[in-house]
Amino acid sequence: MGTLYIDGDWRAAAAGGTRDLLDPADGSVLRTVDEAGADDVRLAVEAAHRAFEGPWRTTTAAERSALLLRVADLLQRDRSALAELETRDTGKTLVEAGIDVDDVTAVFRYYAALAVGDPGRLVDAGSATVLSRVVYEPVGVCALIAPWNYPLLQMSWKVAPALAAGNTMVLKPSEVTPLSTVELVRLLAEAGLSQYPGVVNLLLGSGANAGGPLVEHPLVELVSFTGGLATGQAIMRSAAEGVKRVALELGGKNPNIVFADADLEAAVDYALTGAFLHAGQVCSAGTRLILHDSIAEEFAAELARRAERIVVGPGLDPASQSGPLVSAQHRDKVEKYVALGLEEGARLLAGGRRPSEAHLQDGYFYRPTVFAGCDRSMRIVQEETFGPIVTVETFETEAEAVALGNDTDYGLAGAVWTGDRDRAHRVAGALRHGTVWINDFGPYLPQAEWGGFKRSGTGRELGPTGLAEYQEAKHVYENTSPQPAYWFGRPE
Ligand code: NAD
Repeated sequence: MGTLYIDGDWRAAAAGGTRDLLDPADGSVLRTVDEAGADDVRLAVEAAHRAFEGPWRTTTAAERSALLLRVADLLQRDRSALAELETRDTGKTLVEAGIDVDDVTAVFRYYAALAVGDPGRLVDAGSATVLSRVVYEPVGVCALIAPWNYPLLQMSWKVAPALAAGNTMVLKPSEVTPLSTVELVRLLAEAGLSQYPGVVNLLLGSGANAGGPLVEHPLVELVSFTGGLATGQAIMRSAAEGVKRVALELGGKNPNIVFADADLEAAVDYALTGAFLHAGQVCSAGTRLILHDSIAEEFAAELARRAERIVVGPGLDPASQSGPLVSAQHRDKVEKYVALGLEEGARLLAGGRRPSEAHLQDGYFYRPTVFAGCDRSMRIVQEETFGPIVTVETFETEAEAVALGNDTDYGLAGAVWTGDRDRAHRVAGALRHGTVWINDFGPYLPQAEWGGFKRSGTGRELGPTGLAEYQEAKHVYENTSPQPAYWFGRPE
């Protein structure tokens, strides 16, 4: 059975292409999957287009809501198998992968609830003989493109609202980590979508051979993309041709600001997880630590001490606290950034090397790395390294802290730690990021919007806005007592 899902069938690629997926923990071939090309893209989009004109279109919101709830139940039924697959494919620890499955389940449940109970909006047209209402309809064929770091989670943030709104879709997970999306599509079919061939289609393949042609296809009405800045820019340019709707969730360079009056034990603990969870391969990772002068040295030293104690190892080993990087190429990129940091004059306090343990030599492991003595002119402070690297800068005044927190082209997330609530809310108000945490780092909620200011993207996922992204608003204006107006004069 193939691993592409087109028009309700599992199939191989039309041109016979395949790709070996590597286990990042040891470099071995994990599985060989089909690799879509232009013909598969065409077939998938055409199937989605036909399905949009078919019986799926007349499903009720209640039926789609029930479908999403069944998906949520199936995700929980298969929780441990899904988590294990995600760990093998991405390298993340089993605990993290299990949390991802739970978060995804919550997102399906949230959109199941949001799908129903919204009859649209009555509008006061200022006339007793006009009934005016705004209703929300699906957009059409959606291209949903996800990155490799949170494969199941990022794809589900798109699939759940897109289905709730009644769209049809073509999914394109990252070619590096597609396996959990294959399972997600199986669960969607099992939950009832097998009765509606073409509503969900799955293409595995590269950005060049599958992603690009998918975005360009004239029957695609909406592109929702999570990934890197350069890819997002290319997608926006390409979508402009067809005036397609585009939602982009891009990178981040996220400030974590700590004032001297903060709970420093909590702050250092969250600074550690913020920077090193999933080996820093997190769009909202707290990679830019901004510390008050008076605490900086001690705080950074303690962070480095704890970073050195993190147990790096295969995600499936329960003793591992942090897994490998996703690929050899990605580790090369991270190592280049570490070399650059040293060249730029940053002071290495921890890591900066591969682990020495013999059993980790075939995997793509890298030690958590702390750089102190950083400043805003350095590329390691400005660019997304997407690895286990945290840089430390210092500030004296609140205004300086805010200026540093906003001193990035990105605007995805940031945090402020302080015991002074007035200051906390002043700083939260001043930060130009889509999510701001006060005395915390990392959480998000299905019911609250997620997304970026500035170069971190356009549009929002999660929350009611995450559903609205997949809806067209239609104004239905009914004249309940039509009278001729004779604008052009009465007829002879
Ligand atoms: P990427 O941009 O290389 O790839 C993302 C996806 O786009 C993949 O499926 C890829 O095959 C596809 N793609 C590549 N070129 C394409 C093209 N020309 N047309 C269409 N599709 C194309 O990103 P990545 O390396 O997989 O992921 C890491 C990036 O994702 C980081 O920058 C990270 O910050 C970002 N990210 C953002 C969020 C968020 O919520 N804002 C979440 C996770 C990851």
